[in-house]
Amino acid sequence: MGAVRDIAAQLHHFINSHPAAAQDGGNRCKAQFRLCSCIRRNGTILANSQLARCEQPIGWCLHQHAVRVVAEWRRNFRWSQWLLQVVHRSGGPLCCFHAFLSDFCNPGGHTMRYWQDLTTEDFTKLDPERTVALLPVGAIEQHGPHLPVSTDATIAEELTKRAATLVPDDVPLLVLPTQHIGKSTEHLQYPGTLTHTAENLMQSWMEIGDSVARSGIKKLVFFNAHGGQPQVMEMCCRELRIKHKMMTVGCAGWSFGPPPDSPVPADERRHGIHAGTVETSMMLYLRPDLVHMSKARNFSGLLQQMEASYKYLRVIGSTYMGWVSQDLHPDGCSGDASKATVEIGELYVKHTTSCLAQMLQEVSAYPLANIRDRADWSS
Ligand SMILES: [Zn+2]
Repeated sequence: MGAVRDIAAQLHHFINSHPAAAQDGGNRCKAQFRLCSCIRRNGTILANSQLARCEQPIGWCLHQHAVRVVAEWRRNFRWSQWLLQVVHRSGGPLCCFHAFLSDFCNPGGHTMRYWQDLTTEDFTKLDPERTVALLPVGAIEQHGPHLPVSTDATIAEELTKRAATLVPDDVPLLVLPTQHIGKSTEHLQYPGTLTHTAENLMQSWMEIGDSVARSGIKKLVFFNAHGGQPQVMEMCCRELRIKHKMMTVGCAGWSFGPPPDSPVPADERRHGIHAGTVETSMMLYLRPDLVHMSKARNFSGLLQQMEASYKYLRVIGSTYMGWVSQDLHPDGCSGDASKATVEIGELYVKHTTSCLAQMLQEVSAYPLANIRDRADWSS
């Protein structure tokens, strides 16, 4: 609450003291007063319907004025991560307010972090040696009785957004629009699943990569949150490398391993491949409103049986079977969702985002000269 009060006070002070604000008269005064009092009354008010009811005029007024004062605000203002999260979660009715805030919440201060926020002219000023484009790829597919079909898309989007806030201002990073639909053919028999074929998904990601290259950017990182498509991602990485002589990197939510102090047992880490402890916990942390913990169970099935019955034969791991989710368990899950907690989710989200942020800096620093034609060795 201290942080929220502080933001309200800064906002109030800034609007009152800025010369542009004074010229705008009644609307501005009313708007800033109502916003400040909203935030002041109760920090949680931003998450509930009270703000939604009174937001429209506030968002509208502030958004109009924001354009003029944005540069100065960016220099002077850092919104708390908490406030940013609440606003991002709120969705629809807060769109104006969100557009306004996202301008200021931009974690890089003066640095633009989202591909779609740049003008076409901005792209001509980017440094191809250091600029990294980050493409979050998820899926819309069944995640058992307790999680929404948006689980992988949500994880891809939220983790990249959070990682972007951890990358220093002077590292040029552009987050591309999240690709919500992936290749989820293993879940075809479960309603709600939306999928491309592998061929179409590859074509789609290749075309995004072509567009990135055409914009003059030579470094592209995929961040994948769905276990059914790392193969597509890896093939795109290689094909884009060949086609555009660009640096391409594929990584996933599980690339960086578990947090050093993870309380999730080793067998759950092996078997919890779909809607188990870790994934359910991350959703409890990111979108608790969409998780039905009363329906979360221990979805123990084929992976455990295989491990008990065979030395080498596995569904996934040292050997690979062409599995579909109904092979694993009637609910199409694998893992113990009943053990999920918001604390585990926070631990995994923070670990993964901090590793991803570090890797993005490594990509930015990696010399493009290492991406070679054969002839480059002799020049
Ligand atoms: Zn998933």
